[in-house]
Amino acid sequence: MSKIRHVLGISGGKDSAALAIYVKTKYPSIDLEFYSCDTGKELEETYQLIRNLEVYLGIKINLLQGAGKSSEDPFDHFLKMYGGFLPSSNARWCTKQLKLAPFENYVGDDPVVSYVGIRGDEEREGYISTKNNIQSIFPFRKNIWSKDVMTKMLSNQNIEQLIPIFKNTDFGQSQEKVHQVLSRKITPDFTLDQKLNTLLDSNVKAFNHLVFDFLKTTDYPLAKEEAFPLIENDEILIKADIFRILEESGVGVPAYYNKIEFEINGKKGEYARSRSGCFFCFFQQKIEWVWLYEQHPELYKKAMEYEKDGYTWGQNESLEELIQPERIEKIKEEYIKRMERKSKVKSPYLVDILGDDEDEGCAACFI
Ligand code: SF4
Repeated sequence: MSKIRHVLGISGGKDSAALAIYVKTKYPSIDLEFYSCDTGKELEETYQLIRNLEVYLGIKINLLQGAGKSSEDPFDHFLKMYGGFLPSSNARWCTKQLKLAPFENYVGDDPVVSYVGIRGDEEREGYISTKNNIQSIFPFRKNIWSKDVMTKMLSNQNIEQLIPIFKNTDFGQSQEKVHQVLSRKITPDFTLDQKLNTLLDSNVKAFNHLVFDFLKTTDYPLAKEEAFPLIENDEILIKADIFRILEESGVGVPAYYNKIEFEINGKKGEYARSRSGCFFCFFQQKIEWVWLYEQHPELYKKAMEYEKDGYTWGQNESLEELIQPERIEKIKEEYIKRMERKSKVKSPYLVDILGDDEDEGCAACFI
């Protein structure tokens, strides 16, 4: 029986859904709990994905809502509290109140390992809790460990403590080289990242064993576990793997990723939505707003109703202005030109061509 909780958050996006399938099926011995932070403003496709995952994996996904006992949708509850002030990339109260706070309340003070769906082809760290009882793990990456763990373990002051642990770890033919790397201090000429990458390149599994043994000397949640099967994992999963996992399982890719054709002034284009999250999320691109207007007009209308007293979702334009026929025409034409420039990328999903705007958004909302 595990002494700590292992939790995995489902955002409604492709990466966290694939992560749930991957960890649950590849490591069935891990007693996983699943949760999703429900803003009350997700697309129906997101709720459908959650239902598909529950059926496929035979699990229950706990829906966490930030507004406590309020009978309103969580987003509306907090919007009132903030005096109608719409969230934006500079004032992201929605993420704090609707995603992070419900998650931290859910885990309380229990020691927790939180599984995060950042892929092996992404250069970002995502949300790291500031609470000491929550440790993040990244199963899709070559380096499954969080930055704080790496900084601590590889720091100059921990070299002496690490070497005896290393001596019980089998790096095979790289043993001597790894000894030298571990003994070398971090300097401007030999950065933490260089040190880390050299160690990972030597032998990922042996490195994971070293980290796991080192953690036993710390207060991190994993120090309480006798075993952790993910240390035997050296797979790296990239975007194509994520789509493959979702399709092969039958859970399916969230429907909003599917391309839809449109035509403007004799030119053809295809659009889709590139992210999960609230239907009115201010991180979406102009073409995604047009997609919402044309594919979910009732949701676009609702998003418009939030724009009052000078508050708008976008910086320079209201949603009413955005759907003027000449404006839609311009957005579509510019988008087609952008697509043509990127047309060398071959993928059935526009998210590959548009670029992963999830990177620019909020990791707690979209992974
Ligand atoms: S999806 Fe967008 S609007 Fe919704 S909580 Fe996240 S950042 Fe805020």
